[in-house]
Amino acid sequence: MNQQTDILQGLNEQQAEAVLLNEGPFLVLAGAGSGKTRVLTHRIVHLIVEKQADPASILGVTFTNKAAREMKTRLEKLIPPNSSNRLWIGTFHGICNRLLRTEIHRLNLGGLKWTKNFVIFDTTESLSILKETLKVLNLDEKVYTPKAIQSKISALKNQALGPIEFSKKITDNFELKLSEIYDKYQEKLNFNNALDFDDLLLFSLKLFEGDSECRKYYHERFKHILVDEFQDTNQTQYDLLKMLLTHPDNSVQNWQARSFCAVGDIDQSIYSWRGANYRLTLNLQKDFPSTQLIKLEYNYRSVDPILEVANSVISNNKQRIDKKLLGTKGSGEKITCFEASDEVEEANFITAEIKRLKSKNQNLNEIAVLYRTNAQSRAIEEALIKGQIAYKLVGGVRFYDRLEIKDIVSYLRLIFNSKDSNALKRVINSPRRGIGPSTIAQVEEKAETMGSSLYSALADLLDEGGLGPRVIASIHSFVEVIDYLIKQSDIVPVPDLVRLVLEKTGYLIALQDSDKEEAEGRLENIYELLNVAQQFHEESEDKTLGAFLAQIALASDLDNLKDSDSEAVTLLTIHSSKGLEYPFVFLTGLEEGIFPNSRALGDSPNSTDDLEEERRLLYVAITRAEKKLFLTYARNRRLWGKKEYSEPSRFLKEMPETHLTGFWGSSVKSPSGKGLPPVKNSSESSFYSKREAEAKENKKNAAPQEPKFKVGDRVQHKSFGLGRVLSLFGSKNQKFYSIEFDGADGKKLLSGDSLHLVES
Ligand code: ATP
Ligand code: MG
Repeated sequence: MNQQTDILQGLNEQQAEAVLLNEGPFLVLAGAGSGKTRVLTHRIVHLIVEKQADPASILGVTFTNKAAREMKTRLEKLIPPNSSNRLWIGTFHGICNRLLRTEIHRLNLGGLKWTKNFVIFDTTESLSILKETLKVLNLDEKVYTPKAIQSKISALKNQALGPIEFSKKITDNFELKLSEIYDKYQEKLNFNNALDFDDLLLFSLKLFEGDSECRKYYHERFKHILVDEFQDTNQTQYDLLKMLLTHPDNSVQNWQARSFCAVGDIDQSIYSWRGANYRLTLNLQKDFPSTQLIKLEYNYRSVDPILEVANSVISNNKQRIDKKLLGTKGSGEKITCFEASDEVEEANFITAEIKRLKSKNQNLNEIAVLYRTNAQSRAIEEALIKGQIAYKLVGGVRFYDRLEIKDIVSYLRLIFNSKDSNALKRVINSPRRGIGPSTIAQVEEKAETMGSSLYSALADLLDEGGLGPRVIASIHSFVEVIDYLIKQSDIVPVPDLVRLVLEKTGYLIALQDSDKEEAEGRLENIYELLNVAQQFHEESEDKTLGAFLAQIALASDLDNLKDSDSEAVTLLTIHSSKGLEYPFVFLTGLEEGIFPNSRALGDSPNSTDDLEEERRLLYVAITRAEKKLFLTYARNRRLWGKKEYSEPSRFLKEMPETHLTGFWGSSVKSPSGKGLPPVKNSSESSFYSKREAEAKENKKNAAPQEPKFKVGDRVQHKSFGLGRVLSLFGSKNQKFYSIEFDGADGKKLLSGDSLHLVES
């Protein structure tokens, strides 16, 4: 068999067309499981193997680092040795990091410059920088909630608005203040030679906007650009792609001939809260009028009931393009619905079903439990533990967020970039060296007056005297160790450097001397970090400390999902499940307020959009399942610390009854109006009717609740700050308030308990 047929094997006619298309931009718009990602992978292979494209001329954008790695591993078998290193395949963030590592010195943002050894601050670190910013500007954290401001700034960065652009668009006093904070925050990041996640994208865009030579170089280099999950592209990413597709000299409009392939599904756009905008997908044909549209019409993932329920649910959205999606997997089993009395019973049902599947020799790796919000996992985890079923959790305390890992990584960051004050503050007294907060405050003051980094301020303080002899001795030996490690970092490979850090800083000894039980777990994590370093050293083409730190900063939870790991059920949010597939899927918490989420249930102008996004999320969730889908919901759930009665999700009503089996509650009428499906057997019947009676009783006994606030009241919430009541919602027993918060948290639906009246 020649390679051409090999590459086309396992593709239908439309897919093959997309793989083989020669020039001009094109968009593959198709439903879930129709082979979009497959087209993208095959096209890259085709370009390299058949068209002899230089791997360095290919830019592939995937949704996760894991997908990028899988694609590379596949390609390595097919293309000449070492050439895969020259391929740029990764997430938008990963690719931007790679670009900035070589080009950031060319960037000038209103006089601010960064150097190649920049560090990437994660959300916690950037939040602490933001808090410092608010302090410097004398702004009250209660009014300017740091978290809210953080997401406002993030939103601006994802809309391609840097501080300068934003300052030109200010419309009110709040935005004026925000602009001031934004400015100062960028200065602070710059002071640390640091970028936050969103800067990776924004800075890359600004680089191309400001430096046409650089843009021209990459425009000419990346002859083939391919993007997966295009519907979740944000403005900054879109503009960045445009920069690469079009020639900096406008007279050369050569994009008509560009090899640009975007694949996506508007029905799966679920990241609007991170600035994604599916409308950009539709814009593509306006911006590049010759863009060809290819549709894929067969689904290769799910059996018919799953597919038909998914198609039926999503057809309720108004903002979409109707499309066909035909099954290829045959009739299969109906979808099972289960109504639980509460979240504990829901979790027990899932556990029992998983045990049943296991007894039929199904591998646990083939099972996923999906939920709308992270908090839902707790009850499910508890039941699985009791049932002795192994599970892996996507989310929770990430490996890189663990205390000891953060400490060691901070040491590495300080060694790499001694301007990183965040890292310095984290490690200067860890392990304990007797350098307390008052000394650190002195160092900060010194750095402020000298306009220098904290690290060089340390040396200045030593020269000056004025500190106690013991503190001087501590600082002295700290600086000595760091200086030594900085020198070593140029000589020894990363795994050895990690070992040196553990030894020379006294971290390991201190840990070994500490409380035994806790230390054991921490030591295990540290060994795991050594493994990560070793693996990085063996596998990465760029073996520098900078590359290692970037890999850590960009690692997502999803990357830790190893398929070959020992057998375990996967627990994950629907957002993280995008692009993945499992033979058996449990979709939990189908209740009003959870799914659709309460955020989407208010009556503000955005609520229709929000509800449609919830429906897209549901479409994503349903279409992850290959063979069998279970839907569960609870009539009572502990929420916000108390048990509350919940209504089954309105989405259940949108599912054709013929594809469902089981029981789905008295208040959920089927669209045909035929009422409830028959309950299977009498024991089940009495079980359910008893529970139904209980639920009704609960509802009846709850005392009627007088509303605490009225529309227009100003209220305060501990985490979200100040806001205004937009509307009231709920039953006579339980009131909710839709609040528009001043900060970036936007609109939220909350029970009155967490709110205080500020002004009526
Ligand atoms: P999603 O929208 O969820 O990202 P997708 O459109 O990217 O889905 P893929 O993940 O590429 O779809 O494919 C779905 C499944 O169908 C995969 O298991 C894939 O291997 C398989 N598949 C794709 N095309 C074909 C085909 N022509 N013949 C057989 N199987 C196929
Ligand atoms: Mg895909």
